[in-house]
Amino acid sequence: MNVLEKVVTLNELRKARNELPEPVGLVPTMGFLHEGHLSLVKRACEQSASVVVSIFVNPTQFAPTDDLDAYPRDLERDAALLQEAGAKLLWVPTPEVMYPPDFQTWVDVEKISQPLEGEKRPGHFRGVTTVVTKLFNAVQPQKAFFGQKDAQQAAVIRQMVRDLNMSVEIVTQPIVRERDGLAMSSRNTYLNPAERQAALVLSKSLAAAESAYEAGERDAQSIRKIMEDIINAEPLARLEYVSCADFETLEELEIISNKALLSMAVYIGRTRLIDNCVLG
Ligand code: AMP
Repeated sequence: MNVLEKVVTLNELRKARNELPEPVGLVPTMGFLHEGHLSLVKRACEQSASVVVSIFVNPTQFAPTDDLDAYPRDLERDAALLQEAGAKLLWVPTPEVMYPPDFQTWVDVEKISQPLEGEKRPGHFRGVTTVVTKLFNAVQPQKAFFGQKDAQQAAVIRQMVRDLNMSVEIVTQPIVRERDGLAMSSRNTYLNPAERQAALVLSKSLAAAESAYEAGERDAQSIRKIMEDIINAEPLARLEYVSCADFETLEELEIISNKALLSMAVYIGRTRLIDNCVLG
């Protein structure tokens, strides 16, 4: 049986990591694991001799008004799932381990962090890139695994790795969905039954936009309008943004001629959900 070792401090992490067979794969998470996270662990197990998973609900990527304290946690269940999935080492740093009182260094990726999630959640990506840098420096993985669910996050991290000469390969994995299309997310647990049903507008609007694209639609505004109309027709949904952007630069498009990222953030009741798909 696979044995998962759990560590908290940086010293414990470094010691345990040094004993792992190489190459090492890292899967950073905020816990409350679901099949989306486990698909990353599975891919990491296929591509690495040892898999390290971090669970850290990173305070610096949450705004004061965000759901940091309410964020769902179940460490015991997560550890059991990771042991079963084949991970070797679980790092669960406390906020004090990650951010000691004299902490004062930040990693800020400029352009690609600005639009979409960056615009709606000021400071979010600065928190993400700083904590991911700390995870990379501590664990020193050869590969790190991220979900396409957070498409801009994956793009920002790739940019950071290129810009700062980090010697880690970034691997992204497709979005894992519930049977009815809802993208898996730890935040889905906030939804009551009516909201859970209403939350289908995200994937439905993406599917409608994708069909229009496949039927030949290339006007980005028309594609955005298709998504907006479906979301706005749902009384429990409040649209924050829809985007049809260039896949590489994340700049909004007029005409879709290359690979494009369709993405959105939508409040269902008080729960903020994101989803996306890639065209072309
Ligand atoms: P989180 O715990 O939400 O920070 O997510 C940790 C990692 O899992 C990130 O790289 C996410 O993009 C990825 N992830 C979350 N949900 C999904 C999903 N439904 N499918 C694939 N990857 C996911």
